[in-house]
Amino acid sequence: MSCDFTLVHYRELLQAAKAGGYRWAGFDRAPQAGDLIIRHDVDLSLAAAVAVAEAEAEEGAWSTYFLMTRSVFYNLDSHDGVAAVARLRALGHRVAHHAVWPDVDLDDRFERVVAWHNPDPEYMQADIAGAVNVMQPPFFDPDHYRSDSNQIWRHGCPHDELRAGRFEWLQLLTHPEIWAYEGATMRATMESLLDADRAARLEHLRNDRIDLS
Ligand SMILES: [Zn+2]
Ligand SMILES: [Zn+2]
Repeated sequence: MSCDFTLVHYRELLQAAKAGGYRWAGFDRAPQAGDLIIRHDVDLSLAAAVAVAEAEAEEGAWSTYFLMTRSVFYNLDSHDGVAAVARLRALGHRVAHHAVWPDVDLDDRFERVVAWHNPDPEYMQADIAGAVNVMQPPFFDPDHYRSDSNQIWRHGCPHDELRAGRFEWLQLLTHPEIWAYEGATMRATMESLLDADRAARLEHLRNDRIDLS
């Protein structure tokens, strides 16, 4: 098994978690032994989020997607944005808020759960009025947390540990763009994302009655 950042290996991670006896869990109650809390911070692409969500559903998994309201990369209020949220829910996933300090836009689209985007240490673990902060105890503990940031697992890919049931419980943070678009480095993955984005934007232009002849 090669630890690529691909949907193939993402599915292998989910299969390893199932083999390790983990149960899917969210942020609605304190973590319990055997919980795998999958968190997706959606920084760049709703299409990537939906692709990962489809793969999870096919593996019998569900997770929580943290979506931005003020992203320069996607618009949750657009037709595509509304459709993406509906699709995530239809697949059995949960939708929470990926907020940019200090703005918290918790409306009816979201559970009362917040993950800050690129948080500074000063507020990373601060209380958020009326919401769970995913980086606060009981949901965050360094020994029960793994993240794929910039295609680097600081403690190695967790698939072996999941298969062996070595985590009492785990909050697993992934960024869907890394898995849905292929590339051996973050730079190469971002090039794949940009290629797909260009194709999608050409389609948006056609739909907007722009003459591309
Ligand atoms: Zn792996
Ligand atoms: Zn983020």
